[in-house]
Amino acid sequence: MIPFNLPYITGEELRYINEVFANRKFSGDGAFTKKCQEYFQERYKFRKVLLTSSCTDALEMSSILAGIQPGDEVIIPSYTFVSSVNPFILRGAKVVFADSNEDEPNIAADTIAALITPKTKAIVVVHYGGIACDMDKLMAIAEKKGIIVIEDAAQAIDAYYKGRPLGSIGHLAAFSFHDTKNISSGEGGILVVNDPALVSRAEIIWEKGTNRSAFLRGEVDKYTWVDVGSSFLPSEMTAAFLYAQLQHLDEIQAKRNQLWSCYHTKFTRKGLDTKVGLPFVPEHTAPNGHVYYVVCKDLDERSALIGHLQRNGIKTASHYLSLHKSPFFKGQHDGRELPNADRFTDCLLRLPFYAELKEQDQEKIVNAIAEFYNLNAR
Ligand SMILES: *Cc1c(COP(=O)(O)O)cnc(C)c1O
Repeated sequence: MIPFNLPYITGEELRYINEVFANRKFSGDGAFTKKCQEYFQERYKFRKVLLTSSCTDALEMSSILAGIQPGDEVIIPSYTFVSSVNPFILRGAKVVFADSNEDEPNIAADTIAALITPKTKAIVVVHYGGIACDMDKLMAIAEKKGIIVIEDAAQAIDAYYKGRPLGSIGHLAAFSFHDTKNISSGEGGILVVNDPALVSRAEIIWEKGTNRSAFLRGEVDKYTWVDVGSSFLPSEMTAAFLYAQLQHLDEIQAKRNQLWSCYHTKFTRKGLDTKVGLPFVPEHTAPNGHVYYVVCKDLDERSALIGHLQRNGIKTASHYLSLHKSPFFKGQHDGRELPNADRFTDCLLRLPFYAELKEQDQEKIVNAIAEFYNLNAR
């Protein structure tokens, strides 16, 4: 069976984790945490990076930092993971779901202006599959109305928009290092704070509501409870794991980008682009080889294709179910149709994708799909 995902192991994780044991400091905010944070700040020029236990945690911090109060409205795409939304629901926000673009699953920037009201406090954008949202348009709308933009960049490490790294454009951004992402530490994430006005409060929230960070820098003579906060920082074992992966980021990215292009070339050569939708990469965006997917005609066709691939020893995965129709939210939705989100819900199918995937396996996968669509004679 060709698995759908296989977390990458660099071989250095245990060496770094052993260093943590040798130092006998296991709790968070130690040497490896600092190394990881500095790595991101230097490589991507993010203003301030805080390591978190997950991307979900980083989004919860974003929700607090955005000052979300009960009744505030937050615009979020419906075609996303629940963690893009829960952090705002937890602060009492009213979520206003937006549709996806017709040709790819990212938030339809042209539909946003009509969703903004005087109560709109934030827009959450999700760079699906590491492909950038239309950030110029989104930032321009947000700026005009004084709205905070949060990038859910969970899937977007080392992806770019007009030469700028994703995660560096919104006021805040969140990345994930879950097993299913390009680099992982099992569970893990970072919060990126690009807006200078939010940096010191971010540190306080991260330090459980205390000004310990300022104290450690010698800026105050004792540390105390100054604001709300929680426990968002991972242990040093997680940070050491992540640091090993970061040391190999270029190599992981080279492999994944190669795999992505290989799929794309093979699909086009077989003429499969006439049978299924292939990922659309808008101009000015440089993706990061996070996923490769096909978009089938309808739900029945996708189910049949999943069965066909399963019988050929190939594991695939559909993706999100439109959140505006979820059991938790459907009673709160305002009734607008979000047809593109629904279509990706029914029709998008993700293919096996991990750094160690072999070219002959990709060949087998593409041939099995071509067989399904009767294209192998070509
Ligand atoms: C993976 C993912 C998350 C959640 O990341 P965790 O690190 O598991 O909390 C959030 N949003 C999107 C779009 C994701 O793909």
